[in-house]
Amino acid sequence: MAADRHQAGLKILEKLTTDAYQIQEQVLEDILNRNAGTEYLRGFLNGQCDKQHFKKNVPIVTYDDIEPYIHRIANGESSDILLAEPVTGFYRSTGTSGGQPKLIPSTAEKDKGALFQTLMGSVMNKHFGDLDKAGKSMQLLFTKPEIETPSGLLATTATTSIFKDSGFRNIVSMRYTSPIETIFCSDINQSMYCQLLVGLIQRDEVVSVGSIFASAMVRAIKFIEDHWEELCYNIKTGHLSSRISDSGCKNALSLIMKPNPDLADSIENICGCKSWEGIIRKLWPKAKYIGAVATGVMSQYTAALDFYSGGLPLVSSAYVCSEAMCGINLEPLSKPADVSYTFLSNMAYFEFLPVKKDCLTMFLDQVQFNSVARQESKEMMSSIEAIEPVDLVNVEPGQCYELVVTTSAGLYRYKVGDILMATGFYNNAPQFQFVERQNVILSIDAEKTSEVDLLRAVTKAKALLDPLGFLLTGYTSYADTSSTPGHYILFWELKMKESNDMKEPDPKIMVECCSSMEESLNYTYRMYRKENIIAPLELRVVKQGTFDALMDYYVSQGASMSQYKGPSCIKSKQAIKILDSRVMGKFFSVETQF
Ligand code: AMP
Repeated sequence: MAADRHQAGLKILEKLTTDAYQIQEQVLEDILNRNAGTEYLRGFLNGQCDKQHFKKNVPIVTYDDIEPYIHRIANGESSDILLAEPVTGFYRSTGTSGGQPKLIPSTAEKDKGALFQTLMGSVMNKHFGDLDKAGKSMQLLFTKPEIETPSGLLATTATTSIFKDSGFRNIVSMRYTSPIETIFCSDINQSMYCQLLVGLIQRDEVVSVGSIFASAMVRAIKFIEDHWEELCYNIKTGHLSSRISDSGCKNALSLIMKPNPDLADSIENICGCKSWEGIIRKLWPKAKYIGAVATGVMSQYTAALDFYSGGLPLVSSAYVCSEAMCGINLEPLSKPADVSYTFLSNMAYFEFLPVKKDCLTMFLDQVQFNSVARQESKEMMSSIEAIEPVDLVNVEPGQCYELVVTTSAGLYRYKVGDILMATGFYNNAPQFQFVERQNVILSIDAEKTSEVDLLRAVTKAKALLDPLGFLLTGYTSYADTSSTPGHYILFWELKMKESNDMKEPDPKIMVECCSSMEESLNYTYRMYRKENIIAPLELRVVKQGTFDALMDYYVSQGASMSQYKGPSCIKSKQAIKILDSRVMGKFFSVETQF
């Protein structure tokens, strides 16, 4: 039965990738036929709904452009101002607009999500065999309470809506170690504690471990480090700690827990070891892989997970956003840095806006940096924006693109905000590596540092600490412009590989880390430093647990634990306060030679 389902899944995959062009044309035709009469599209299409008209007249937009329509629907106007099919709710994406989560309309359509899951399952089955038959998955999954908009429509995260669906509820107890009540517990610490406890109790049945994004998996290991004695005590006695007050969790765990001193002893022996290298494989010896997205900004967690994994493959299986399900990884065993996602032609109408990043960098590197060059670079930027988008099947390997989607849920030529690089094709469907979010995260004067620039700089600098036994477990940044000239501040949380006791890092090396980061940042940054338009970069080392406190803060402010990605840059005063109150040492770059 399952084998047939997986075979059928692989066949569908062949069709979706082979007939990518025809399917994309059909997807667009269907969307336009259904929605050309909406207030939004009418204004651009004038009743005509062919592709040429669409491409010529419908503008490429960002969330801010369509926000007024979304707010009107959220405030009670009929959703047919934007799309013909009724809006049944909103997804709250992690992207923000003016500090608020973006609201993405959702409809009753479930087929695409179910098909996407089936296809991912078929690919995993091809590489790892029928793991559903072999045991359960310890997936750490979290939800967010729904928020009611004035129209009465509910807004929730895309992951919460999947877990609420009866399709998921029907299979959860067969496939996953976590009871549904622990996934829906609104206190993330109680939820994490209970999910790990049941994962440990069922450790011999666990055939895979994971979370949606790698950040939650790293947090889970740190959580076990802090609580393993208590977890073992619960396993030994069969009694749940009184810290768990959530009635759903208590009821669910009472059905699973019974005294098991032998199991508690084995886990105690593993966790009591000085080094936690390979702890995941030791705790879950039958696990075949760790499933957690570790590409893009999540790549900062790969070193920590490689250390803890004991050689288990780290699988990034899909590229999905609240706006659209986009692509799956057909080679789950490839290393995170080599992962490409194959786009599925039936999920949305995809367009790709070429990004001439390299061209711009070369340009800035070649010219003498002065105000004329600055002006020219601005003009060049605007000419880049005038470049036409290309269709899914026409992308060129090696080229970077900004993703633009048109969906059946009311997004028309909408920029998701992600930059992807085409790497090749599977049949006629292109494959992409995730490059970065199209957002400048740090900026002083005209200097703009992107998430990926910062990640590159941090990766290079932290290599200086590797031989000394330090692991970087979290970082973030902010542009401090309270004094002139302003400067960038990086917060790093470190941990010793071989022990839980934290050694003071050598100040000389930390200063070298600062200089290394400065050397890796972009041309404009280096020029501004030379001219003292930007002051020396500062590195603040924070106490262990700081990034957990930061995650707690963001979750308390409405972020979803499942979709939490750890901000590469912080603007909230409260969040900066949390970091600043835990600083152990401050270091500045001094002798950077540009
Ligand atoms: P959300 O809107 O909260 O659903 O988050 C979607 C965003 O998460 C995407 O636009 C990407 O920036 C990021 N994302 C999703 N999947 C991946 C992936 N496989 N690799 C890197 N980033 C991803």
